[in-house]
Amino acid sequence: MQRVRIVGAGLAGSEAAWQLARLGIPVELIDIKPGKMTPAHKKPYPAELVCSNSFKSDDPQTASGLLKREMRQLDSIILAAADQTRVPAGSALAVDRDMFARKVGAMLKATGLIKYTEREICSLEVDPDTVLLLATGPLTTDKLMSAMSEEWGELLHFFDAAAPIVSFDSLDSSHYFTASRYDRGSADYLNCPLDHKTYLMFRSALIEAEKTEIREFDRKVFQNCQPIESLAEKGEDTMRFGPLKPVGLIDPRTGKQPYAVLQLRREQSTGEMYNLVGCQTRMTFAAQREVFGIVPALSQAEYLRYGVMHRNHYVRGPEVLDIGNRTKTRQNLFLAGQITGVEGYMESAASGLITGRMIALIAAGYPADRIGEIVLPPTTMMGALSAYVSGTDSKDFQPMNANFGIIQYDPDFITAKRKQERRAQLIAASDLHLASWRECYQNLCKKYGIGYENGGL
Ligand SMILES: Cc1cc2nc3c(=O)[nH]c(=O)nc-3n(C[C@H](O)[C@H](O)[C@H](O)COP(=O)(O)OP(=O)(O)OC[C@H]3O[C@@H](n4cnc5c(N)ncnc54)[C@H](O)[C@@H]3O)c2cc1C
Repeated sequence: MQRVRIVGAGLAGSEAAWQLARLGIPVELIDIKPGKMTPAHKKPYPAELVCSNSFKSDDPQTASGLLKREMRQLDSIILAAADQTRVPAGSALAVDRDMFARKVGAMLKATGLIKYTEREICSLEVDPDTVLLLATGPLTTDKLMSAMSEEWGELLHFFDAAAPIVSFDSLDSSHYFTASRYDRGSADYLNCPLDHKTYLMFRSALIEAEKTEIREFDRKVFQNCQPIESLAEKGEDTMRFGPLKPVGLIDPRTGKQPYAVLQLRREQSTGEMYNLVGCQTRMTFAAQREVFGIVPALSQAEYLRYGVMHRNHYVRGPEVLDIGNRTKTRQNLFLAGQITGVEGYMESAASGLITGRMIALIAAGYPADRIGEIVLPPTTMMGALSAYVSGTDSKDFQPMNANFGIIQYDPDFITAKRKQERRAQLIAASDLHLASWRECYQNLCKKYGIGYENGGL
């Protein structure tokens, strides 16, 4: 059995370590935390959520819901911990971030097979009898990033932003109402209505506010994570059709739909902290207090965390990676998580999950050059993401969220024309292909003598 070392105990690294340990394979899990922290990590635990506490929709009819459905079937630690620490958030899966990360830490420890070491890794070198997985994320430290650039050329990057968090006690309760959009599920959000005049004032203030300077910023911001002030600049109504959309929300005091609504989502189970949904920003801290203070419910808000922006790095996936996330330049070096060019918490965890499964077989003796035969099919969301990072055109390689556009359609299966029916067929195809993949995988585990003691299949 080859030794396995994982660098980075974030979402991808924790998931990969769990998958390996569940198959009975010991893992050395290395992270610079807690002694040193990246600019966004603040807590000592593994699998830290650096921004939103939401894993997006849990509805399998959505792409991120389907991804979760597949990961649950493959014994995901991130989903197991999320399901146990969830906080109310309508149809989204949101968690108490500290409880969630502590839960992941406890579950990893309980395997008895994961040795945690606190250390910064600065090179790609590894003993020939060890498989190395780098899951160091979008904020990989400079020295390791230099080593990656030397090996594969300059890394690509984009900017990602975090939204502010405010304390519940500081909110003006006479200016918000609790409800979920269209009354779906329980009333989990605090909704801060804006009338037309206040909306226009808020928009002008966002446009004029002082921002932190970031070179190349506008060209490189991730489309799904546009700062609120960039949306404000795009047009008068852009925010009303985006994060401030009022549809499906009725203010009980007026019986009407407000002109615009800023939603606050609960951060942890005790409900002391609330996240300004969709309000990621690069305004200076003083400007955040002033501009968000225009929203009546936030006039006296206490900021527990201000919004910030970070440069996120990732490799040129198609040039660097073979299918299965093995690097083309080094036989026993794998990458997983956001550094490969997937985007998002759950996508990063999914990348760790599947890479962990590949490494488990290789560590047990499966020939590494036949990894292409055992990857998940692209008719599943996980397989499609994996195929995307290693198999797309590398000229304009962009980070990718789970979405139905990347999934490969099985023509025998996907025959419906209407969107709802087609989604149902895509889900059925994913179930079927995942089930047959699991059977093959289990047979290989049996053949290579791993798996059954810990029940992780
Ligand atoms: C500011 C910001 C906000 C984001 N907001 C969201 C969001 O709201 N929703 C969403 O879905 N996604 C968000 N993302 C994107 C992405 O989903 C997360 O970054 C996610 O955590 C990536 O998972 P990962 O496992 O690849 O990396 P991470 O979770 O970042 O884990 C990487 C780990 O590697 C460690 N590490 C780094 N370098 C070294 C080294 N040289 N040696 C040892 N250890 C090292 C770090 O300490 C860290 O623990 C955000 C990203 C950033 C940067």
